[in-house]
Amino acid sequence: MDSNDKTAGDIFECQLCGDCCNGFGGTYVTDQDILKIAAFINADPTTFVETYCDYSGSRPVLTLGANGACVFFDTKKQCTIHPVKPYMCRAWPFIKTIIKNPENWNAMASACPGIKKDIPHDTLQRIVTLESQQLDQSLS
Ligand code: SF4
Ligand code: SF4
Repeated sequence: MDSNDKTAGDIFECQLCGDCCNGFGGTYVTDQDILKIAAFINADPTTFVETYCDYSGSRPVLTLGANGACVFFDTKKQCTIHPVKPYMCRAWPFIKTIIKNPENWNAMASACPGIKKDIPHDTLQRIVTLESQQLDQSLS
Protein backbone atom coordinates (compact mmCIF):
# COMPACT_ATOMS: atom_id res chain seq x y z
CA MET A 1 0.00 0.00 0.00
CA ASP A 2 1.22 3.47 -0.90
CA SER A 3 1.78 5.54 2.25
CA ASN A 4 -0.58 8.17 0.80
CA ASP A 5 -3.39 5.61 1.04
CA LYS A 6 -2.79 4.73 4.68
CA THR A 7 -5.59 5.49 7.14
CA ALA A 8 -5.65 5.90 10.92
CA GLY A 9 -6.53 2.22 11.26
CA ASP A 10 -3.43 1.24 9.31
CA ILE A 11 -1.07 2.91 11.77
CA PHE A 12 -2.84 2.42 15.09
CA GLU A 13 -4.99 -0.31 16.59
CA CYS A 14 -5.65 -0.16 20.31
CA GLN A 15 -4.70 -3.41 22.06
CA LEU A 16 -6.79 -2.52 25.13
CA CYS A 17 -3.78 -3.13 27.35
CA GLY A 18 -4.54 -0.13 29.58
CA ASP A 19 -0.91 0.97 29.69
CA CYS A 20 -1.75 4.55 28.68
CA CYS A 21 -3.94 4.85 31.79
CA ASN A 22 -1.13 3.73 34.08
CA GLY A 23 1.27 6.30 35.38
CA PHE A 24 2.28 8.02 32.19
CA GLY A 25 2.85 11.31 33.92
CA GLY A 26 -0.36 13.16 33.59
CA THR A 27 -3.53 13.34 31.61
CA TYR A 28 -4.29 17.00 31.04
CA VAL A 29 -7.89 18.15 31.35
CA THR A 30 -9.24 21.15 29.49
CA ASP A 31 -11.89 23.49 30.91
CA GLN A 32 -14.45 21.68 28.78
CA ASP A 33 -13.23 18.29 30.07
CA ILE A 34 -13.65 19.54 33.64
CA LEU A 35 -17.24 20.61 33.07
CA LYS A 36 -18.17 17.36 31.34
CA ILE A 37 -16.49 15.00 33.80
CA ALA A 38 -17.79 16.90 36.82
CA ALA A 39 -21.35 16.67 35.49
CA PHE A 40 -20.88 12.96 34.73
CA ILE A 41 -19.83 12.15 38.29
CA ASN A 42 -22.29 14.58 39.85
CA ALA A 43 -19.67 16.89 41.31
CA ASP A 44 -19.31 20.61 40.91
CA PRO A 45 -16.29 21.60 38.82
CA THR A 46 -14.32 23.09 41.71
CA THR A 47 -14.80 19.99 43.84
CA PHE A 48 -13.87 17.80 40.90
CA VAL A 49 -10.57 19.64 40.38
CA GLU A 50 -9.78 19.64 44.11
CA THR A 51 -10.55 15.94 44.47
CA TYR A 52 -9.46 14.37 41.21
CA CYS A 53 -6.72 16.60 39.80
CA ASP A 54 -3.15 17.56 40.48
CA TYR A 55 -1.23 20.30 38.77
CA SER A 56 1.55 20.00 36.22
CA GLY A 57 2.82 23.55 36.16
CA SER A 58 -0.34 25.62 35.89
CA ARG A 59 -2.36 22.94 34.13
CA PRO A 60 -4.64 20.43 35.88
CA VAL A 61 -4.02 16.74 35.23
CA LEU A 62 -6.02 13.76 36.45
CA THR A 63 -4.54 12.44 39.65
CA LEU A 64 -3.30 8.87 40.04
CA GLY A 65 -4.91 6.32 42.32
CA ALA A 66 -3.02 4.30 44.92
CA ASN A 67 -2.22 1.66 42.27
CA GLY A 68 -0.42 4.21 40.12
CA ALA A 69 -3.08 4.28 37.44
CA CYS A 70 -5.38 7.14 36.52
CA VAL A 71 -7.90 7.64 39.29
CA PHE A 72 -10.66 6.77 36.81
CA PHE A 73 -9.07 3.52 35.61
CA ASP A 74 -10.63 0.23 36.63
CA THR A 75 -8.89 -3.02 35.75
CA LYS A 76 -12.18 -4.61 34.74
CA LYS A 77 -14.09 -1.70 33.25
CA GLN A 78 -11.02 0.17 31.98
CA CYS A 79 -12.08 3.84 31.77
CA THR A 80 -14.95 4.53 34.16
CA ILE A 81 -15.61 7.93 32.58
CA HIS A 82 -15.36 6.70 29.00
CA PRO A 83 -18.31 8.77 27.62
CA VAL A 84 -16.68 11.98 28.85
CA LYS A 85 -13.01 11.06 28.95
CA PRO A 86 -10.60 13.96 28.44
CA TYR A 87 -9.81 15.35 25.02
CA MET A 88 -6.27 14.05 25.35
CA CYS A 89 -7.47 10.47 25.90
CA ARG A 90 -9.96 10.77 23.07
CA ALA A 91 -7.36 12.06 20.64
CA TRP A 92 -4.59 9.56 21.44
CA PRO A 93 -2.41 8.82 19.58
CA PHE A 94 -3.41 11.37 16.94
CA ILE A 95 -2.38 14.31 19.07
CA LYS A 96 -1.85 17.66 17.41
CA THR A 97 1.78 18.02 18.46
CA ILE A 98 2.58 15.22 16.00
CA ILE A 99 1.62 17.56 13.15
CA LYS A 100 4.52 19.81 14.15
CA ASN A 101 6.79 17.12 15.57
CA PRO A 102 6.19 13.84 13.72
CA GLU A 103 9.54 12.56 15.01
CA ASN A 104 7.84 12.04 18.40
CA TRP A 105 5.64 9.28 16.98
CA ASN A 106 8.17 6.48 17.47
CA ALA A 107 8.75 7.52 21.10
CA MET A 108 5.00 7.29 21.68
CA ALA A 109 5.03 3.88 19.99
CA SER A 110 7.54 2.67 22.56
CA ALA A 111 4.92 3.25 25.24
CA CYS A 112 1.86 2.10 23.30
CA PRO A 113 1.77 -1.32 21.64
CA GLY A 114 -1.08 -0.23 19.36
CA ILE A 115 1.08 2.26 17.46
CA LYS A 116 3.00 1.14 14.38
CA LYS A 117 6.48 2.58 14.13
CA ASP A 118 8.40 4.15 11.28
CA ILE A 119 5.51 5.82 9.49
CA PRO A 120 6.66 8.48 7.00
CA HIS A 121 6.33 11.94 8.51
CA ASP A 122 4.13 13.32 5.74
CA THR A 123 1.74 10.40 6.20
CA LEU A 124 1.59 11.03 9.93
CA GLN A 125 0.95 14.71 9.45
CA ARG A 126 -1.86 14.04 6.98
CA ILE A 127 -3.57 11.43 9.17
CA VAL A 128 -3.22 13.37 12.43
CA THR A 129 -4.55 16.54 10.80
CA LEU A 130 -7.59 14.66 9.51
CA GLU A 131 -8.24 12.81 12.77
CA SER A 132 -7.91 16.04 14.77
CA GLN A 133 -10.37 17.83 12.52
CA GLN A 134 -12.86 14.98 12.82
CA LEU A 135 -12.53 14.87 16.61
CA ASP A 136 -12.97 18.63 16.94
CA GLN A 137 -16.04 18.51 14.70
CA SER A 138 -17.55 15.69 16.73
CA LEU A 139 -17.13 17.70 19.92
CA SER A 140 -18.41 21.03 18.62
S1 SF4 B 1 -1.35 1.92 25.57
FE1 SF4 B 1 -2.03 2.05 23.43
S2 SF4 B 1 -2.73 -0.02 22.94
FE2 SF4 B 1 -2.64 0.11 25.18
S3 SF4 B 1 -4.76 0.74 25.78
FE3 SF4 B 1 -3.51 2.59 25.54
S4 SF4 B 1 -3.92 3.28 23.43
FE4 SF4 B 1 -4.53 1.13 23.56
S1 SF4 C 1 -9.56 9.25 31.81
FE1 SF4 C 1 -9.95 7.15 31.19
S2 SF4 C 1 -8.84 6.88 29.25
FE2 SF4 C 1 -8.03 8.72 30.25
S3 SF4 C 1 -6.23 8.05 31.44
FE3 SF4 C 1 -8.02 7.99 32.82
S4 SF4 C 1 -8.85 5.91 32.70
FE4 SF4 C 1 -7.46 6.21 30.94
